[in-house]
Amino acid sequence: LKSLKRGLSKTRDLLLTDVGDLVPRGGKIDEAALEELENRLLQADVGIDATSAILDNLRERARKAGDGDPGDLLRAAMLDILAPVAQPLDVSTANKPFVIMAVGVNGVGKTTTLGKLGAHLRDSHHKVLLAAGDTFRAAAIEQLQEWGERTGLPVIAQSHGSDAASVVFDAIHSGRARGSDVVLADTAGRLHTKDYLMTELKKVRRVIDKIEPRPDYEVLLVIDASTGQNALVQAKEFHQAIGLTGIVLTKLDGTARGGIVFALAQNLGLPIRYIGVGERIEDLRPFDAESFVDALLA
Ligand code: GDP
Repeated sequence: LKSLKRGLSKTRDLLLTDVGDLVPRGGKIDEAALEELENRLLQADVGIDATSAILDNLRERARKAGDGDPGDLLRAAMLDILAPVAQPLDVSTANKPFVIMAVGVNGVGKTTTLGKLGAHLRDSHHKVLLAAGDTFRAAAIEQLQEWGERTGLPVIAQSHGSDAASVVFDAIHSGRARGSDVVLADTAGRLHTKDYLMTELKKVRRVIDKIEPRPDYEVLLVIDASTGQNALVQAKEFHQAIGLTGIVLTKLDGTARGGIVFALAQNLGLPIRYIGVGERIEDLRPFDAESFVDALLA
């Protein structure tokens, strides 16, 4: 919890340096306190919808609980929003390998997240294969290969400019032949236009769907928390275009906009699988609603 608190320190400082200062000791949550809380939530990029939901929830709890500790009530109100989306990623499958197709725009931390995730899965005794599906950017293939060397995981790659769907197809077949448990597939974050990008990602998904027997897979969107509300816009766009099954939110360290987690939960309701709170391998963490809220409030 300590290192998670450190990772979330900027959001915590902005949001609730001391929840106690919103409400005098032994006091009640009054409208002035709610107004101040509303300002802080909005500043931390919690967004209008999730902020209203938290405030309504808190008002209702305060009405019922009377003199309950304001911090406890706020914690409960926040958990009501985050608990439903805190669903860990389960890679167990009858049709190995389970496929994780990571999508997201350039620079959000996609390749890094796959490297970290590969290391985590390896440490929990899964046989992992990396697939260099960002064939548009030559450096992306090299970067994934570097992660392969660092983590000792094999990488399936073709040359720069080759067909992304064919790389992923190869990797899944190769994974079947080698007895891999999980294939982690990188994809492009930018093509000539956004339409091209979405068309390519849809094609990758279609190719996975056609493999017999069809693999179980996750379409995992990686987004950068420090972009605040823009992260929500990206999530909506990708979800509409290709359909997502989970989210990783990176770079929560170094930003005071960590409240975006609440906006994502409230507005999309997609499972948040992992959060990134730094550049080290251990800084990718399964998203846990209780420890997240505790790191913000405790
Ligand atoms: P991609 O273009 O989406 O594949 O992004 P990269 O994986 O190349 O990452 C871009 C930069 O973000 C790199 O310098 C990463 O080290 C950094 N990065 C990724 N995740 C995190 C995180 O959780 N926290 C911080 N501080 N940096 C991160």
